[in-house]
Amino acid sequence: MHTYHSPLDLVRERSPERPVALVRPGAVAVAARWFRTHFTGDVLYAVKTNPSPWMIRALAQNGIRAFDVASIPEIEAVTANAPGARLAFMHPVKSRAAIAAAYHDYGVRTFALDSHEELAKIIECAGGAKDLNLIVRLDVEAAGAAYTLSGKFGAPAAKAPALLLAVRRATQDLMGVSFHVGSQCLRPSAYQAAMAQASRALVRAGVFADVVDVGGGFPSAYPGMTPPDLADYVAAIDRGFDDMMVHETTQLWCEPGRAMAAEGASVLTRVELRKDDALYLNDGAYGSLFDAAHSRWRFPVKLVRAAGAAQAPLKPFHFYGPTCDSVDHMPGPFWLPQDVSEGDYVEIGMLGAYGVAMATRFNGFGEVETVEVDDAPMASMFGLAPRSIPTPKIETETVVRLTRPRGKRRKRR
Ligand SMILES: *Cc1c(COP(=O)(O)O)cnc(C)c1O
Repeated sequence: MHTYHSPLDLVRERSPERPVALVRPGAVAVAARWFRTHFTGDVLYAVKTNPSPWMIRALAQNGIRAFDVASIPEIEAVTANAPGARLAFMHPVKSRAAIAAAYHDYGVRTFALDSHEELAKIIECAGGAKDLNLIVRLDVEAAGAAYTLSGKFGAPAAKAPALLLAVRRATQDLMGVSFHVGSQCLRPSAYQAAMAQASRALVRAGVFADVVDVGGGFPSAYPGMTPPDLADYVAAIDRGFDDMMVHETTQLWCEPGRAMAAEGASVLTRVELRKDDALYLNDGAYGSLFDAAHSRWRFPVKLVRAAGAAQAPLKPFHFYGPTCDSVDHMPGPFWLPQDVSEGDYVEIGMLGAYGVAMATRFNGFGEVETVEVDDAPMASMFGLAPRSIPTPKIETETVVRLTRPRGKRRKRR
C-alpha cells in the first residue's frame, strides 16, 4: 500500500479518478492499545465494522487477539490476516454448514445463540462436541444509542432463564451472556443497566455465568454527537460487573467495532458537478456514505484542492452520490468554503467504521482504492485530535448529559 503524508499530497501527485479510502493504521493502533490497557477483560474486535486486511493486521499487531465474526468470509479474513487469533462466532442465527465449517475447519469454539433451536443446531453441527463456549445473547432495554440493536436478536427476559439453564447443561466449557446496548451508545450507564438485566436472568435461572460479554456500542466522535470519555464507559462496566452475581473466575469481554475503527479511515471524494449548494460527488449512499444518507449523519469534511488551501468563508452544502437513485442524497449540512467547484476534492472523515465496509456495486460505482496516509484523523476519542467537532451556527449540538430521561425523575417534595 502506497503511503502519502496527506490527502493533499495524493491529489497533487495524481488526481485520483475514483474515491479513495485514506487509511490510518496508526490511529487504529492507538485505539487497540487503549482498549487493551483500559478494559478490564478480553477485547474482541467486531469484524463487520471494517473487515479490511490492513485493519485486521493493525489490530493484531497491537495486541488484539480475539475477533467477533458473523460469517465464514469474516472468519477467512481473520485467519488470513491475524493467524492464530481466537474466533468467536457471535451471530445468533447461523447456517448449519457455517457452524460445521467454523467448528471443524477453523477451530472455532465460541458460539452465540438466542434460542433453543439454535442451541440444538450448534451441538448437532459440532458433532455433539462438549468443548463449546456458548454465549446466550439477551435482549436488553438500553436507552442512549444512536442505533438500537434490539428486537431482531436476543432472548427476551421471560424466556432467558430456561435458555440459560439449557445451555449450562449443554456444555462443560464456558457458558456466558452477551447483549448489545445499541451502536454509538452515548450513555455509559446503559451498560450498567443492561448488566443488571443480565444478572436478573442469571439469578432467575439459578446459574452462574463464566463469561459476561458487554458487546459493542462504544461511541466515536461525529459533528453534533460528542460522546462522554471512553473511560466513563469502562468505569460503568466495572461497576455493573461488581454488582453482578458472578464467581471469581468469571471473564469480562467486550466487542467494540465503531470505537476501534472509526478514526482509522476517511474517504477522498471528487466534486463532479456543482449546482448552487448541491455537490455531486463520486461516492454516496450506495458507497461509503450509507449513514450520511439514511441516518442523516453529518460527517466532518475538508476541502482538498491541488492549488492549495482555500481561504473562502464556509457555507453549508448537501451532497448527491453518483448513482441515478434519488435516495442517493446526503442532506448534511456539510460546511465547505463557498467557492468549492467541480474538480475539487472533499475528504469526508470518520468513515473507518461502517463506511467502506458498506459499499455496493450498484450502477457500476463502488470501487474504492486504498491508500495509507499518516496525518491525524479529523476527530479522536484517544487524543489524536479534538473530540468535539465544531459545527457552525444553525445546528445546535446535542451533547449528551448524564441525567435521567425526563419524566422518570422523581418529584422533589
Ligand atoms: C455490530 C456488532 C458489534 C459492534 O458494534 P459497535 O456498535 O460497532 O461497537 C459487536 N457485537 C455484535 C454482536 C455486533 O453485531
